[in-house]
Amino acid sequence: MQDLLHTRQISLKGLVQGVGFRPFVYRLAHKYDLKGWVNNTNEGVVIQVEGNEMQIDSFLEELVRNPPKASAIYSVHQNDCSPDYFTDFSILKSRTTSDRITQVSPDIAVCDDCIRDMKTQAHRLAYPFINCTHCGPRFTIIRKLPYDRQTTTMEPFAMCDVCRSEYEAVHDRRFHAQPVACTFCGPEYTLIHGKERVTGIYQILETCAEITANGGIIAIKGLGGFYLMCNAADEFAVGKLRNAKHRDGKPFAVMVRDLETAVYYAAVTPREEELLVSWRRPIVLLKQRRALAKEINPGCSTLGLMLPYMPFHHLMFEKLALNAVVMTSGNRSDEPIVIDNRQAQETFRDMADAILTYNREISNRVDDSVVFVVHEKQRIVRRSRGYVPEPIRLSYPVEGILATGAELSHCFAIGKGKDALLSQHIGDLKDPETHAFFQETVSRLCDLFQVHPVCVACDMHPDYLSTGFANSLSLPVINVQHHHAHIAACMAEYQLNEPVIGICWDGSGLGSDGHIWGGEFLYADLSSFKRFTHFDYIPLPGGDKAARETWRTGVACLYQILGRDFLKRDLPFVLKVREKPELDLILHAIDRKLNTPLSSSAGRLFDAVAAITDISHFNSFHAEAPMKLEAIVDDRVEKTYPFTIGNTVSFAAMFREIVSDIQNRVPVPVISAKFHNSLVSVIFTVANNMKEQCNTGKVILSGGVFQNRYLLEKTEERLKNSFDVYSPEQVPCNDAGIALGQMAVAAQQLNRKNSS
Ligand code: ZN
Ligand code: ZN
Ligand code: FE
Repeated sequence: MQDLLHTRQISLKGLVQGVGFRPFVYRLAHKYDLKGWVNNTNEGVVIQVEGNEMQIDSFLEELVRNPPKASAIYSVHQNDCSPDYFTDFSILKSRTTSDRITQVSPDIAVCDDCIRDMKTQAHRLAYPFINCTHCGPRFTIIRKLPYDRQTTTMEPFAMCDVCRSEYEAVHDRRFHAQPVACTFCGPEYTLIHGKERVTGIYQILETCAEITANGGIIAIKGLGGFYLMCNAADEFAVGKLRNAKHRDGKPFAVMVRDLETAVYYAAVTPREEELLVSWRRPIVLLKQRRALAKEINPGCSTLGLMLPYMPFHHLMFEKLALNAVVMTSGNRSDEPIVIDNRQAQETFRDMADAILTYNREISNRVDDSVVFVVHEKQRIVRRSRGYVPEPIRLSYPVEGILATGAELSHCFAIGKGKDALLSQHIGDLKDPETHAFFQETVSRLCDLFQVHPVCVACDMHPDYLSTGFANSLSLPVINVQHHHAHIAACMAEYQLNEPVIGICWDGSGLGSDGHIWGGEFLYADLSSFKRFTHFDYIPLPGGDKAARETWRTGVACLYQILGRDFLKRDLPFVLKVREKPELDLILHAIDRKLNTPLSSSAGRLFDAVAAITDISHFNSFHAEAPMKLEAIVDDRVEKTYPFTIGNTVSFAAMFREIVSDIQNRVPVPVISAKFHNSLVSVIFTVANNMKEQCNTGKVILSGGVFQNRYLLEKTEERLKNSFDVYSPEQVPCNDAGIALGQMAVAAQQLNRKNSS
């Protein structure tokens, strides 16, 4: 018999802590009748198993194929060793503090087992804080490491005997589930409705259902902050919500009852479905099929949908007669999402008819994440709940590098070992509250992960508040050009370090010649870049003002190409701008180069086309005009406009034809398609030139403009046969990805310095 006994030691590295990995291994070992032990170490999880060799192989196969859903195995090492003749399988008690849990898992949507338990377990009937080792809050409740109940915001809640026995039972799904709780010992909700305070889950659900059915708005505390909720089919309620938030036209997210409802309202591909139902539960931007209240997403062809992720959401939909509710972040325009109960009462007093709160604190503020899918790949627009603080793994050390990011849709990063830890979505730093949130989160994350910054990387733009912050730290500062950082971020994600064709299109970033860049073709690696070519400069009358009043850019383009003659053209746009009192001043300013910075930005090019075609004269929120232009594309059109590629890329010929198309009453969706198609051709042509001259076939597509699905899809299709095409999947291609690129460039400089 003894010659059949095999002993094997298996070391696993990856995200294997705080996600129920050891109990999972324990149960699996029992299933395959193996003896031995499993243990947590700083390096990961180590398992020793004894038994039949085939059983060991099956055990390992299942372990790798089907691990707990929030875990990720990066590497498996195994070696045979001499038998210890174990009599059982055990989870080794952590003896030293060094092998306690030091990883922080993102928050995990409530699992199906817990939803079932909510209906069957006497102590958790309709209990809205139910969780287990496979699900529940993680990052939002942690205060410091190691991850233990005492270091989370569950600390004030003492476990009852039943919960404790579950927490201590190895075979239980709640074994070492730090936030374990029940009706008798855990947190609870309170609904503040006028002068009334409603308690008791059933009463609360009833009142919430009543308020929503009657067109009311409820401020509801989620995992990482407060949300504002109302019936998504009620025009009046949604309109009221829009007014209350002072939010111009920015689309609201909608939470739907289930996948069937999502499919009813939107087209859902298999990959989109996978993301909708994933434990991360992001908002997925989908092609809308049926109407909800118009004010949810005016002028958009896409709809942001998500499925319930907290137990309360599930209870709510059981009670609610509705299938879809608006669930938008609880804040006023650019301010951070509210997390504090007291502040909630102040902020939402006038915005909402009722406030639903609970008595557990939110330690880390996180917004909902937003993703979309092109070519079956996930593209992240906002990386927060469910994604943060999962690291981006790099192949070189970045320890102690703090990268402060850009300014709009801000996010920063800290380096730990070879991991880049990207912060949650911070927001627009120009808002003072958001700026305070940024500074506070830097020290919070550095404390949490015990990172001591030794160097800070930031944008070249001296006026970015993130640059100001970097310069205030008395640490060595490395300035990284904005578009180089965009390209480097994508390179970091794919662990590339060789020279690439970097195509970076965005709204704006300071260039090394002092102008505003944003339609860039860079020949780059992590240490440096050469600007191969770029879009022609357009004067931006009024500077930053032009990014908002996009008609100014439209005027500048027409004036640059047609001279004063453009005012005689019979275009709806021209008729409208002729009425503008500022027009003469603007033309004068362009002539005299007064407060008209030059920009090669692709974002501004979209603005100009959207303005001239009379689609949109304003960006009431970031990239509104480009989004509207994309939304109307007639995708049956394959034609393009002419353009010239010399030292720079000139669109003069394109604008001339757009003007004549408008005069000839060519439908605007056709014009928009021809414009988009032209951009794809520009990329294809320049990429081919670069391939020939620079001798590389690796293309990086980055920058916020590639959130344009039509552009990204067509570009990838056009390039895929002759190039290796990379576009960001794990980090946003917008400015929220900049910090990772800054970190990669800084690491390259530091590591080179260290080795020389
Ligand atoms: Zn669960
Ligand atoms: Zn309990
Ligand atoms: Fe940018």
